[in-house]
Amino acid sequence: MNAQAAESFESRVEEGYRLLEPRQKYTQAFCTEDEIAIAEHIRDFITKEVMPYRHDLEGGWHRDDKLAKETLHRLYAKLVDLGVTKTNLPESWGGLGYSPVVRQMINEELSRADIGLATKVGKIHWIVSCMVAAKRDDLLEEFAPRIVGEDSWTACVAITEPAGGANVEDPALQYRTLRVIAKEDGGDYVINGHKLWPGPSGYLDRFQSAHMKGHLGYWTVATTDPNAGADGVGLFYVPPDAKGLEFSNPYEKMGFSYTESNSDIWYNDVRIPKRYRIDTEPGQGAQLVSGFIIALGRLAGAARLVGLSEAVLEIVLDWSQHRIIAGTPMRERSLFATYLAEMYRAIDIARQYYLSVTWQVTRPDVYGAPWTKEMKAKCSAARSYAGDTAQMVCNRAMELMGSAGYAYESHVEKYMRDYKIVQMWLGGAQRDRLDIAQGLYGPFKWAGSDF
Ligand SMILES: Cc1cc2nc3c(=O)[nH]c(=O)nc-3n(C[C@H](O)[C@H](O)[C@H](O)COP(=O)(O)OP(=O)(O)OC[C@H]3O[C@@H](n4cnc5c(N)ncnc54)[C@H](O)[C@@H]3O)c2cc1C
Repeated sequence: MNAQAAESFESRVEEGYRLLEPRQKYTQAFCTEDEIAIAEHIRDFITKEVMPYRHDLEGGWHRDDKLAKETLHRLYAKLVDLGVTKTNLPESWGGLGYSPVVRQMINEELSRADIGLATKVGKIHWIVSCMVAAKRDDLLEEFAPRIVGEDSWTACVAITEPAGGANVEDPALQYRTLRVIAKEDGGDYVINGHKLWPGPSGYLDRFQSAHMKGHLGYWTVATTDPNAGADGVGLFYVPPDAKGLEFSNPYEKMGFSYTESNSDIWYNDVRIPKRYRIDTEPGQGAQLVSGFIIALGRLAGAARLVGLSEAVLEIVLDWSQHRIIAGTPMRERSLFATYLAEMYRAIDIARQYYLSVTWQVTRPDVYGAPWTKEMKAKCSAARSYAGDTAQMVCNRAMELMGSAGYAYESHVEKYMRDYKIVQMWLGGAQRDRLDIAQGLYGPFKWAGSDF
């Protein structure tokens, strides 16, 4: 595709399709008209301010780190200005206190442009929701001023370990495979162990620039004793410059190349005060990890996968209008129209389902808390269905567009690289299915397991 073709391609994509507009796709069963107006505002912002820089977010074709960092920090700072990072912070702490449904609609709209950028915003929501759920006003008092201030900050939740990420997410294993260990020592915890993959992670200069102030730190899943199972697990805040923290270089990956800087983290006798353990009551650590980190993390992934899928549908709808086959636009031919209809159908079903589950999260009295096996099953169903949808939509789009879809300029190749990890992280597509089954009939033990 030459530059002129690429430019006209971009302008045609901006035309928009009514069925995909916030007023059509977000049902008022789950939110108010004013809340849909918020999603509309974010969508407009994203279309104008972020969509044009999608390639630059990964440093262009040659993965220029300088361009990627400058673009990521600049766009993220704009989102911070817009208030999206403080949407789940209660108003009493200076946040916007939006409902989970509105936050998910915003999450979808951000992901239409770049699912990595949306994930970066989600990291702040993740840590805030854990501190709010644990009623840690003292910690909110410490972090809220930075979250509501003018500077932009990033944060990380560290779960995955060399023994396997999916093991940590497996309820049958009861956190017994965790090897990042926090030992009480007087008024402190001393943490030792090794995490793989948490992002964004690394030395501070990667997170500092004219547009970004820095890294808030690592909300680390660890255990006081692997043999204690769910009773031993907790969530520990580790400052980004804590003595004894060590990082590898960032991994080179298929997607999320700069938006999510992933590395090894080694904890070498990292000492933190006891108040930095987020959970304070027996059993609360397991509830935070299983419910607020894993289940709600998957539900957030569902909204992101839907936003990504919709972006791809917009691209292929547009392309197929202008690609003429034997005198007729491709999308007017019944075979291709059927494909497009199936793509839309799956995306909207995935959307209506994640919205419904998100609304149910706001009624734990009726549907159960996020850590119950029933709610976890629904969150996993939302993510796995949205993941299968994104896979089908990216694949079909590329087939319909032929080599143009395979080309860098179409953006489909990038969406295709990006959706995959959102389907796989937090335990992955198979773990999702097992958690759905376990929601139906309860945890089962692995045959031959010692646990
Ligand atoms: C871009 C990116 C961002 C990431 N962000 C973070 C982050 O912020 N924080 C973090 O902690 N991690 C993060 N991860 C890591 C990610 O969550 C894990 O890689 C993922 O959970 C899978 O773990 P694993 O790679 O160790 O695979 P494995 O655990 O080896 O699993 C591989 C596959 O084996 C199967 N499997 C293995 N064990 C089980 C089991 N017990 N039950 C069911 N199926 C099983 C599943 O099919 C699974 O998909 C990130 C990874 C990437 C690439």
